[in-house]
Amino acid sequence: MAPLKYLLNSSVRVFQSYTRCLSSAVRQTTGLCFELNESQRALQELARKFAREEILPKAAYYDQTGEYPWDILKKAHEIGLLNGYIPEKYGGPGLNMLDVCLICEEMAYACAGIQAALYVSNVGQMPVILFGNEEQKKKYLGRLIDEPLTVAYCVTEPETGSDVAALKTSAVKKGDEWILNGRKMWITNAGIADWYFVLARTDPNPKTPTSKAFTGFLVEKGSSGIIIGRKELNMGQRASDTRGITFEDVRIPKENVLSREGDGFKIAMSTFDVTRPMVGAGAVGLAQRALDEATKYALQRKTFGIPIASHQGVAFILADMSIGVETARLVVQKSAWELDQGKKNTLTASIGKAYASDVANKCATEAVQIFGGNGYNSEYPVEKLMRDAKIYQIYEGTTQIQKVIISRHLVNAAKEQRA
Ligand SMILES: Cc1cc2nc3c(=O)[nH]c(=O)nc-3n(C[C@H](O)[C@H](O)[C@H](O)COP(=O)(O)OP(=O)(O)OC[C@H]3O[C@@H](n4cnc5c(N)ncnc54)[C@H](O)[C@@H]3O)c2cc1C
Repeated sequence: MAPLKYLLNSSVRVFQSYTRCLSSAVRQTTGLCFELNESQRALQELARKFAREEILPKAAYYDQTGEYPWDILKKAHEIGLLNGYIPEKYGGPGLNMLDVCLICEEMAYACAGIQAALYVSNVGQMPVILFGNEEQKKKYLGRLIDEPLTVAYCVTEPETGSDVAALKTSAVKKGDEWILNGRKMWITNAGIADWYFVLARTDPNPKTPTSKAFTGFLVEKGSSGIIIGRKELNMGQRASDTRGITFEDVRIPKENVLSREGDGFKIAMSTFDVTRPMVGAGAVGLAQRALDEATKYALQRKTFGIPIASHQGVAFILADMSIGVETARLVVQKSAWELDQGKKNTLTASIGKAYASDVANKCATEAVQIFGGNGYNSEYPVEKLMRDAKIYQIYEGTTQIQKVIISRHLVNAAKEQRA
């Protein structure tokens, strides 16, 4: 009996220590879990229903006309599918980034152009969410909750995109105001924004470090001296409004400086950690759509007496697409999750954005291939997917710039280990 008693006691001890570890682990972290919770599933379903019923049927129309999808923006605003990241304190839904990514993926599945048109506002509003003071948050975020409005993020210029530190737009302080001059290019929502986030150089001394030379401003639409360019005719995502915008002696009250003078570069860069998961999620949505369309078609279309899906050459293309969609979704969601956990996500945000963009392009191209001649024609849905996919590798930092970030991270980590 003694050994049994001992065994029992020791099992109880092992069990007790196991449960102690478990409960402390549960307290610290939920560990790996690949399942959405109930509220996330409900949100995903709501977004899916909205995207399939309100966006998908109108995607071809907005692609062909290039009109801004105001009717869809208004409906999305009404049911709370816009501005998800605005905290509850300022009237927003206060969703976390993983929630927002679920919405982005569903919307981009239906139309990446309309999703971009609706969601680029999040890029413009993010500097205020991250760095705005109470007054600025109440005023500029509050408006977006009260009305279906849009915002623009103005950083890129005709002469410089990737090299943000080379931008020339300047602002000079005069009394209680700043005077803004310069030209921005490729600004999404430029023609329809209610307000703009603008990055400008405020220290003309070329020796001033980048981290101190720029300032972020909030500029009201209709301010005297704003000249809005024509809508650009882009390859894809045509529902989205992209334009140049010029600022000529635009007066900005000092209250509209975000954070402090000199903090602009940090603001612009930190924004990307939050917005890249959303862009990655859009790319995943498009890739999933390409896979679904290609699979459906491959089962219907016959050659040599059998559905083309039964040819291994075609089936393997579908399998590769599926590998891409699944893995891209995982890394994009991880980058959102890290943010939600309060972790630094710069690395995974870049990995996710770069990878999902490539997957979207690969899947769209392969979908066209599976559709054969029909894939090359605008009567079928996949040529639009191919046009819409390309921009994912360019905006929000090109794929090469993501690789600059990723490789810099690797090198710095290796140096730190050696030191
Ligand atoms: C439809 C659309 C919407 C956009 N929306 C916005 C917006 O709302 N707000 C905004 O501010 N901007 C916006 N942009 C601009 C976009 O972010 C830039 O186009 C992008 O950052 C690239 O800049 P660029 O076009 O000047 O290319 P460049 O910087 O000139 O780059 C040209 C090529 O060189 C490569 N390259 C550059 N530097 C390096 C390097 N160091 N190493 C390796 N390769 C490099 C690039 O990857 C690219 O392939 C938008 C662009 C488009 C087309």
